Amino acid sequence: MPEVIAPEKPQPLTALTEDETLFRDNIRQFAEEKVRPLSKEMDEKGVFDKELIHEFFQLGLMGIEVPEQYGGGAGTFFEAILAVEELSRVDASAGVIVDVQNTLVNNALLRWGTDEQKKRYLPRMAAECVGAYALSEAGSGSDAFALATKAELKGNDYVLNGRKLWITNGKEAGLFVLLATLDPAAGYKGITAFLVEKDFPGFTVGKKEDKVGIRASSTCELILEDCRVPKNNVLGEAGKGYKIAIETLNEGRIGIGAQMIGVARGAWECAIKYAQERKQFSKPISEFQAIQFQLAQMATEIEAARLMVYNAARMKDAGINFVKEAAMTKLYASQVAERVTSLALEIYGGYGFTKDYPVEKYWRDSKIGKIYEGTSNMQLQTIAKLVIK
Ligand SMILES: Cc1cc2nc3c(=O)[nH]c(=O)nc-3n(C[C@H](O)[C@H](O)[C@H](O)COP(=O)(O)OP(=O)(O)OC[C@H]3O[C@@H](n4cnc5c(N)ncnc54)[C@H](O)[C@@H]3O)c2cc1C
Repeated sequence: MPEVIAPEKPQPLTALTEDETLFRDNIRQFAEEKVRPLSKEMDEKGVFDKELIHEFFQLGLMGIEVPEQYGGGAGTFFEAILAVEELSRVDASAGVIVDVQNTLVNNALLRWGTDEQKKRYLPRMAAECVGAYALSEAGSGSDAFALATKAELKGNDYVLNGRKLWITNGKEAGLFVLLATLDPAAGYKGITAFLVEKDFPGFTVGKKEDKVGIRASSTCELILEDCRVPKNNVLGEAGKGYKIAIETLNEGRIGIGAQMIGVARGAWECAIKYAQERKQFSKPISEFQAIQFQLAQMATEIEAARLMVYNAARMKDAGINFVKEAAMTKLYASQVAERVTSLALEIYGGYGFTKDYPVEKYWRDSKIGKIYEGTSNMQLQTIAKLVIK
């Protein structure tokens, strides 16, 4: 793969095409009008609004890169990133639902699905079926390939037994890209990816987690008890699932970066508005240089993280190796989100510490960025491997 592209006229990283601008503006408007009014209640109840997911499908947000022949938007990865950022600016749970669908599940189907699997599943993914990506287990998180869910070939079916934990979209999903092992003793070489439908016999969704942040996004346990999965639902090659898991997550990490810059921007916008309204010592607190410097520092960090997210997404669309940039993007954007949302909360003073104002939610929602799709230590491990020769 080429390492450098030389466009005729290099453009700023934040330059968008006309189509991208229109796409982003539509989502921004949708997020403001449809998502924002529901965000607080969904967070309190810990349940995502079903009708809103239906609207995601209608707007084309659940099949952004799916080719037209399968009913998708035939868009770019960069557009998927814009969608995640804009939704997360208003509600990080909305952002992650769209993120998992596009950057993990559709992406895996598009890259590794057979023509027959694509025909069978992609039209559904673009129209009505929520997807989930099931790698983690109680005993295997960072050490993902130590997973214990076992798959055994019996006739024309694989029979799966085990439990998955922490699966985003678990409650809503109709299709799961699920990783199991054919032979635990073979280590990563036994790992195989399966396309598991929620109605397959022996498959059930277990407990839903009660979380600190992204509370409306469902995070569930999956239980496989002699779950029968047809042989032709193996995604890619048997025993090569580790490659699917690693490479899908590389793209996913740019999506989490986008979620984090959306969260940071949302909190920053609240903070600046509040700072201009709140008076102490007879003037708006935004007139104190200390507050101005905090807001300026936050804006600078968001800008830096955003450039990293956009660059990594453009690299992916250009077919350039982006593994290091994806890891750096997720690492940095999640650090920025945590810092910015925390400062935003402080700018609200005591009010920021209550549920009456929106910043505490941004702060809670930021925390997950350092944990899922590989913790910050795991990103550092990848980056270190690539930069220290
Ligand atoms: C809300 C939420 C949604 C999620 N969604 C999904 C999903 O959709 N699909 C899915 O498959 N998984 C999902 N996960 C799981 C997530 O990817 C894991 O939680 C994450 O990879 C960390 O694994 P762990 O929780 O087992 O932590 P551990 O791996 O036990 O890590 C604990 C701590 O040890 C550190 N650590 C571990 N190993 C090392 C090492 N070698 N060097 C340095 N430090 C190390 C970690 O950085 C961390 O700080 C989700 C998790 C959450 C909380």
